[in-house]
Amino acid sequence: MGEGLESESRKLLGRLRDTMAEEAAGQERLDKITHLMADSMGTEVCSIYLFRDAETLELCATQGLNQAAVHETRMKMGEGLVGRVARYGKVVNTADAPSARGFRYMPETGEEIYSSFLGVPVQRLGEKLGVLVVQSKEKREFTHDEVYALEVVAMVLAEMTELGVFVGEGAALMARHTQPVMLRGGTAQEGAAMGRVWLHEPRVVVTNLVADDPEVEAKRLEDAVDTLRVSVDEMLADAPNDSDHAQVLEAYRMFANSKGWMRRMQEDITRGLSAEAAVEKEQSHARARMSQVTDGYLRERLHDLDDLSNRLLRILTGQGNSTGSEMPSDPILIARNIGPAELLEYGRSLKGVVLEEGSVGSHAAIVARALAIPLVIHAERITNEALNGDQILVDGDQGIVHLRPDETVSNAFRDKMAMQAKAQERYASIRDTECVSLDGHKVSMLMNAGLMADLPSLDNSGAEGVGLFRTELQFLIRNQMPKRTELANLYARVMDAAHGKRVVFRTLDIGSDKVLPYMKPQDEPNPALGWRAIRVALDRPGVMRMQLQALLRAAQGRPMTIMFPFIAQYEEFRQAKEEVNRVWAREEKLGHVMPESLEIGAMLETPSLAYASNKLFEEVAFLSIGGNDLKQFFFAADRENERVRRRYDTLNVSFLTFLQGIVKRCEESNTALSFCGEDAGRPIEALCLAAIGIRTLSMRPASIGPVKSLIMRYNLDEIRAVIEASRDRGDQTVRASVMDYLRQNG
Ligand code: PEP
Ligand code: MG
Repeated sequence: MGEGLESESRKLLGRLRDTMAEEAAGQERLDKITHLMADSMGTEVCSIYLFRDAETLELCATQGLNQAAVHETRMKMGEGLVGRVARYGKVVNTADAPSARGFRYMPETGEEIYSSFLGVPVQRLGEKLGVLVVQSKEKREFTHDEVYALEVVAMVLAEMTELGVFVGEGAALMARHTQPVMLRGGTAQEGAAMGRVWLHEPRVVVTNLVADDPEVEAKRLEDAVDTLRVSVDEMLADAPNDSDHAQVLEAYRMFANSKGWMRRMQEDITRGLSAEAAVEKEQSHARARMSQVTDGYLRERLHDLDDLSNRLLRILTGQGNSTGSEMPSDPILIARNIGPAELLEYGRSLKGVVLEEGSVGSHAAIVARALAIPLVIHAERITNEALNGDQILVDGDQGIVHLRPDETVSNAFRDKMAMQAKAQERYASIRDTECVSLDGHKVSMLMNAGLMADLPSLDNSGAEGVGLFRTELQFLIRNQMPKRTELANLYARVMDAAHGKRVVFRTLDIGSDKVLPYMKPQDEPNPALGWRAIRVALDRPGVMRMQLQALLRAAQGRPMTIMFPFIAQYEEFRQAKEEVNRVWAREEKLGHVMPESLEIGAMLETPSLAYASNKLFEEVAFLSIGGNDLKQFFFAADRENERVRRRYDTLNVSFLTFLQGIVKRCEESNTALSFCGEDAGRPIEALCLAAIGIRTLSMRPASIGPVKSLIMRYNLDEIRAVIEASRDRGDQTVRASVMDYLRQNG
């Protein structure tokens, strides 16, 4: 790149900045930019197309094309050369536009006389805003430097659009972030919430895009990158070796030291951009690529680069995490993704959470579930669209988010919430009533928990005890292995809070989707079928022993209940139980107060266990069906894979028949049986489970009211007959028949 070209580019940006500094209405500013660009690039035409809506581009200003076409000419994404630039987010540079693929003649613009065409996307952090075009009669391809110059201007244009510079009289351009937006995502935790946006990472606002002195800017960038490197090194020194966290930091370090990254930013600065603008330009590129890359690993690395750019922008602008604003009283947290520990820190102050990414089984989802906060995942663009303080409605049941909703939507939503509140009142009125069906079958209602924060729900929900305490949460939210005393204290406090109600502590269930941040990740082709839960515990008994000690000590003389996850064959249970006996003997020898009694049960999460020998059924104190895992293995459908996870109905006759087989075996061997998967908390499913004989259900606390109130209104023997009849008729699922029956019977 020649010195002359660099100063040309700087001059152009300087003129652009001066133009922007003048008092002018939005449209006037757009017009001025097109004049300026056509003039500087020596082309007859310069036009700016901006998105009207997600699919439609509109000619918003032009120098050289017919003025009457402004705000009249529109095209769909992908239509014509301009539409192509927008769709693919890539530059189109051609000497002979009329014969280029995709060219579409727009008579109102008079453009057919122009031969050369150069179009660059106007995009900001991966979001498409429009297209900037220059055209000329002379048949020539634009040089690399010209393309670059136009790209830089497009970037400045994108920033200005974001800042609302072009809004105003005559511009016919809506201010950004003012329109209602509805986003459809996935549901990870049900419930409805309304509140105000609180961004986990507020956007850094870059206002100085163009700089006069490249040397000063280059130095600023260098200093900022140095600061960044030091902080990454420090974080790395604190991170446990080989952990996920350390791996991410290693990737950060790689980028922070990457010559290519630095070089590109320095080049942008030489061309006249400020250090911040240069960082953001690179970040935009990374985001644009992110939307195209499907390879998981690469996407992760692009994310790392994105995070790193954010850090760098914060250093450069001095803008901190909260940018001075105060968290609203009804915050709905918006983030691209969030870790479990961070989410837990916000805790119950949050009314809802919306993530751009996330997954149903992610740790954040587990925490959100534990906190009973509605969570919508895969809400595309939410972090770009939402501003702190915006009104927002979260429909966790449908996976829908309404940002800045209009009044009709708000009112409808308010009605929905009022109805739910009424239902809650009804549930509260039966809180202390036993759950007995009309025909006199008692169904025990237990709750699932995993955090200290869950325990107050024991009283609020009327649960008779904790049927599943997921102990792994305590391991997942820390960045190092918890200590034995720490755990013993925590378990003791859990038991204190339960006031004598039974708590079933499930031993550490890690592996598959639950990866401890401080444990070396296993590279397994099928983690759900891999080295997880009891398999890890038996192969590396150290952690299990420590946990068992903590549990026995926590009891402080009270009765203790322990449950092993993911038992696939008798031998695993036997070994695990032997481990408990050994720990018991040692603890006793050490003089600790031993639990008054000890129950040891197993989770039935693999079909194999349903066919285990009688010995298993006789030896376990109880069995608890982990329906989430059991169902995924029964149907061979990954519980985390959006494509298949809803494909098979829990009320499918094959699955129900299978469950009935388990009920029968438990009855024959007098083994206590419960069900603790998510389905236990879905009223219709729970009703059917109870009808086929599973009379202990453990679920999210919030589900106890709805499940209980439904079961209490029906006759379980009749429902069972409906299920059998439906099966006899050859139905694939009994759902429709059961629903019909419920409708006909109130
Ligand atoms: C289950 O698999 O149903 C279960 C309760 O365990 P988790 O969801 O923690 O795997
Ligand atoms: Mg499970």
